[in-house]
Order: sequence, then structure tokens, then C-alpha cells
Amino acid sequence: MDGREARAVRQRLESLARAGVRQLPRARLAPPPAASLSAPPSAPSVVSQAGAPAGAADVAARQASLEILRGEVAACTRCAELATGRTQTVFGAGRPDARLVFFGEAPGADEDASGVPFVGRAGQLLTKIIEACTLSRDDVYILNVLKCRPPGNRAPLPDEVANCRPFFERQLEIIRPDFICCLGASAAQALLQTEEAIGRLRGRWFTYGTAQVICTYHPSYLLRNPAAKRDVWEDMKLLMARMGLEA
Ligand code: SF4
Repeated sequence: MDGREARAVRQRLESLARAGVRQLPRARLAPPPAASLSAPPSAPSVVSQAGAPAGAADVAARQASLEILRGEVAACTRCAELATGRTQTVFGAGRPDARLVFFGEAPGADEDASGVPFVGRAGQLLTKIIEACTLSRDDVYILNVLKCRPPGNRAPLPDEVANCRPFFERQLEIIRPDFICCLGASAAQALLQTEEAIGRLRGRWFTYGTAQVICTYHPSYLLRNPAAKRDVWEDMKLLMARMGLEA
């Protein structure tokens, strides 16, 4: 094992410890089966996970970088309609060195009012999903494709996604998560740059840079279709198994 590999292993172990993992099965650090991973149509560039080792200074640097980016987002007017209609931008929330990121679509009314992602009914359901994964919101990072609320909560338009893409890509470069869970079609399609339906993206693993990506239904969809909660739980069990978490 060379120095770069040793740093990557140490960082992974520290990440596991933060997630509360106290025991490490033999298979934990084995790479995922190649057959279960499919690359996105075009792999976006992301800073290597085997970069700087985690530590207090590293976490502070990431937090500082995120705050600078938060300021850029707050001043953004690239989408004229959204910038005019918003109460405020909704940047993201969570730990800057989170091992797991939840990636949603766009702010709704509650988020637009509070400036915090996923705080309405769908957000409360996401919190329950996170807790069912034996984590808390403080353990993860939550962000959306768009930082501004679309009128009437409509889906993001392609040019709006393109406008906001540099922001979420830079957030992910700073956080450098091991895992990304896409919530709903808009998030999955934006991250993976695909047009496949969310029903076809579920249950499969993708990669985004060094992060492993899983897709599931958006909590808003679950509020309208409670029967789909079973599917989401199946997706979360896949995620937990690969993260080494136990229900
Ligand atoms: S959605 Fe993103 S790109 Fe569009 S105005 Fe808001 S911050 Fe800027």
C-alpha cells in the first residue's frame, strides 16, 4: 500500500468512526463489485477523495470554502425569474466533511422562507429517513440542484439546472462525500446527466467522481404515494449495507 492509498484508507476509517461504526467486517473496505457499478454518461470532475486527510483544520477549511460559495449563491441572479421571485437562496446544510450527501431538487415554500433545505413536510419525512439509517441530519449534508424556489414548485427547467450546476458541483468538490443519495428524478438526472426515469435509476449504483451514487424517490412523492415508502426503504438498505451501517 503506497502513501496515497494509506491516506485514503485512513480517511475512510475516520469517516466510518464519525458515522458511529465501531466494528469493521472484513468486506467493508473491499471495492464495490464492478458489475454493480455503472458510470454516468459523462463523469463530472470532482476532487479526489484521497486528497487532504480529514482533521479539524481540514473541516474548518471546507466550512470556510462553503461560506464563500454561499455568498456567491446569495448574490446570484443567473435565473431572472427565480432570482426575482425568491425570498432568499437556500444553499445547503450539514457537516462540511459529510460522508453522505442527500441531493434534492429545489427549495419549496418553507425552505424559501427559512433559507434551510428540507424543513417542510417533505423535509420532516427526509429527517425520518435519515434517522432510519441510524444517522442524524448533523451527520450528513443536504443540498438541492437549484438554490432558488421555482414558482408554484414546478420542476427545474434545463437552463436553470445549467445555471446552478457550477454551484452544486463546487459544493460536492468541497464536501467530497463517499456517498450521494439523489432524491427524485430532477436530482438524479442533473447529477448523472441522464434522462432515464427515476424508476429505472433506483436500485443501481453509479459514480460521481469518487462518490458512489444511489437514487431513490423524493420525499414529496412519498407524501403523495405512501406505498412507495417500501421502495425507498429498500434503497436505504442498499445504501446502509454499502456504508457499513446496521438498521
Ligand atoms: S437557481 Fe441557482 S443559478 Fe439560478 S438564480 Fe438561483 S442561485 Fe442562481
